[in-house]
Amino acid sequence: MKAEHYVGGVFRSDGPVFPLIGPGDGAELGAVPEATREVVDDAVTAARSALRGPWGAASVEDRAAALRAVADGIQARFDEFVDAEVADTGRPSEFARTVDVPRAVGNFRAYADLLYGRPERAYTTQVPGWSAGTGQALNYTVRRPLGVVAVISPWNLPLLLSTWKIAPALACGNTVVLKPSEETPSTATLLARVIDDAGLPDGVFNLVHGHGPDAAGAFLTGHPDVDAIAFTGESATGAAIMRDAADHVTPVSFELGGKNPALVFADADLDAAVDGTVRSSFTHSGQICLCTERVYVERPIFEEFVTRLGERTAALDGYGPMISAEHRDKVLSYFRLAREDGATVVTGGGTPTFGDERDGGFHVEPTVLTGLPETSRAVREEIFGPVCHVAPFDTEDEALALANDSPYGLASTVWTRDLSRAHRVAPRVETGIVWVNCWNLRDLRTPFGGVKASGIGREGGEYSLDFFSEPVNVCIQI
Ligand code: NAD
Repeated sequence: MKAEHYVGGVFRSDGPVFPLIGPGDGAELGAVPEATREVVDDAVTAARSALRGPWGAASVEDRAAALRAVADGIQARFDEFVDAEVADTGRPSEFARTVDVPRAVGNFRAYADLLYGRPERAYTTQVPGWSAGTGQALNYTVRRPLGVVAVISPWNLPLLLSTWKIAPALACGNTVVLKPSEETPSTATLLARVIDDAGLPDGVFNLVHGHGPDAAGAFLTGHPDVDAIAFTGESATGAAIMRDAADHVTPVSFELGGKNPALVFADADLDAAVDGTVRSSFTHSGQICLCTERVYVERPIFEEFVTRLGERTAALDGYGPMISAEHRDKVLSYFRLAREDGATVVTGGGTPTFGDERDGGFHVEPTVLTGLPETSRAVREEIFGPVCHVAPFDTEDEALALANDSPYGLASTVWTRDLSRAHRVAPRVETGIVWVNCWNLRDLRTPFGGVKASGIGREGGEYSLDFFSEPVNVCIQI
């Protein structure tokens, strides 16, 4: 898949290029064009003028039909999307087949459906007027698109996470400029092809490739003619984007990093808790923002839990690589730090040898650690790799204190068979999402997002439609 920009309905690849490396075996996959400031300007200009064209006048039915056409287009090229995502990320193709591509289709379908579930115009009457002496009035509220939306997406779930923002942005009548991660440009380019084939008017969706700081990403988020920024990525990047956005008071929706805790109580179904923690810590080699990196286990079952988790983790195979050599080295540097801080390595802690082409890739062993002080950087900072640290606790309050002692607050899991405990504990965990006896069970209508350094705002269902549109109240004196 040759990566290209898509600007105002035209594919182009002018500008300098950088190499795309496949993380599965380290082979060079091709060259990616790096959008200059001029390319980004062109994309924003095209998005602005598309708002004044037929898209700006499109009805809810037209927009829903466009979203469905895009969903159908992705479905029709399912295998190409799978291959492109697998090539860029090195993930097992089963993952792309069952998670990434179906969810991208689902994102467009869900927002097409939601448009009908929600009247575009919400009416409220106020007769007589609420303030004394103002007489009678009719108030009604219309929702208007924000305008040009910049979408900046990460490499870990490239297609899933970009479409999670593009679909509701388009549903609300906005136009979009997408800047995907420099590590994963291919499915974004395919998506532009699908959108082009679906016949959306030129400039409604635009795509620019390139890096973040002082490059395409920053050119876009600092652009004076961008009306909103929807960003998923690291918390430090969010802070940098917020500084850029401040100059033009551009609204932001942020899905950021995490250091997600799991609380395993002694009354939990131990099989389910071990199974769930293997999934929550090691799915996609820990490169999902929702992955568990801190596991707190009630002392009576601590030893057994660690033994069983270690055995299950050591038996994992067929796992994918880290996204890049740089990211692998970052994960390994945390393993070093953990050892220096006195960790016991229950299993893993290094890089595997396969004896085939995967040895050129960027794999890291699934790793379970114990024995670290809570002050260790390996316990406090997001590693974003296949690793969790397991520590014991004695009381419910202590478990909550440990879970909440973090700058992050994205997602958590609670494992218990005590219904009262589940209801008591869940609201007290300082995360935007709490899963009880499960992990990553998703309903696209529910609010998704984090507290503290894990994000600003919520996405999903109505929450996305609220962010990507502006309520405007009209008051008519009667
Ligand atoms: P990243 O922050 O390094 O990059 C994300 C995107 O931002 C990329 O497209 C990058 O080019 C761009 N970017 C970087 N600096 C920029 C700048 N100064 N201005 C504008 N754009 C800039 O994140 P990543 O390494 O790609 O992804 C991993 C991170 O994403 C992890 O922290 C993970 O927790 C987080 N994440 C969060 C969620 C969530 O829903 N909360 C989901 C997935 C990933």
